[in-house]
Amino acid sequence: MGLKSKTMDIVKYFEFKFNKNLGQNFLIDENILKKIIDAAELDENSTVIEIGPGIGTLTQEMAKRCKKVVAVEIDKNLIPILEETLGNFKNIKIIHADALKVDFNKIIEEENLENVKVVANLPYYVTTPIIAKLLNEKVKISSMIIMIQKEVADRILAKPNTDEYGTLSLLCQYHCDIKKICKVSPNCFVPPPRVESMVIRLNIRDKKRVDVLDEALFFNIIKSAFNMRRKTLSNSLKSIVKDENALLKALEEANIDPKRRGETLSIEEFANLSNILIRQKS
Ligand code: SAM
Repeated sequence: MGLKSKTMDIVKYFEFKFNKNLGQNFLIDENILKKIIDAAELDENSTVIEIGPGIGTLTQEMAKRCKKVVAVEIDKNLIPILEETLGNFKNIKIIHADALKVDFNKIIEEENLENVKVVANLPYYVTTPIIAKLLNEKVKISSMIIMIQKEVADRILAKPNTDEYGTLSLLCQYHCDIKKICKVSPNCFVPPPRVESMVIRLNIRDKKRVDVLDEALFFNIIKSAFNMRRKTLSNSLKSIVKDENALLKALEEANIDPKRRGETLSIEEFANLSNILIRQKS
């Protein structure tokens, strides 16, 4: 039986009602499922955190190939379905919780997870906050293999001087090496979402892409530069560096024209500017 009929049978049997607000678009395409599993490069030593297992389609395929899967699902209506569909797997743990609120490092410690990867068909309404949480909280994972809206994938991969380039691009590119895996059309899901999707792989770097003396300042500068995208740097960074002369001096030392806009700066330029500002302070 195909994945589509299997999924529809489960949905009918449990009288499950899709909740649009929770981004419930279940994967029904075997090809894409295989591509996600292959990209995750699972083996008997690796463990997985899955965010939003749905009815457990991806969960069980991963559990066949790795040591343990811990899946975090917010919808209480899916818990009895998961208990039934995944009941035979001793290496799957379901946690009924909001992925935005859980302490992933605590889960990793409590469940004794090693070589951890996040693999997920992410609920689209919370894609960015989940990625930001995993990176900002320095969750101890080696990679994320995630299906997300194509538009968000484009932002993650974006280069300077493009409309897509912004805080999300810089956050992800600072922490990760990023690879496109494949595009996914809406008809690979039930119900079909309105947008195209993409699977990407983010490998967390041991050494960050650029050397930064103060990460909080580095990201604050980035945030301010993109908060007011249309403004010049000398304007948009006023909220961070109150002393205008100090700001102009730092921009000059960094070889950055104060009339440039944030979206033109490379990650190296943002790092250099924030390091100069830190040195100026001390
Ligand atoms: N993994 C399944 C698949 O590929 O068919 C389902 C993916 S569906 C796009 C997203 C899943 O995330 C749904 O099961 C939804 O209930 C769950 N979800 C939504 N918001 C969540 C949150 N904040 N924390 C945990 N799970 C969430």
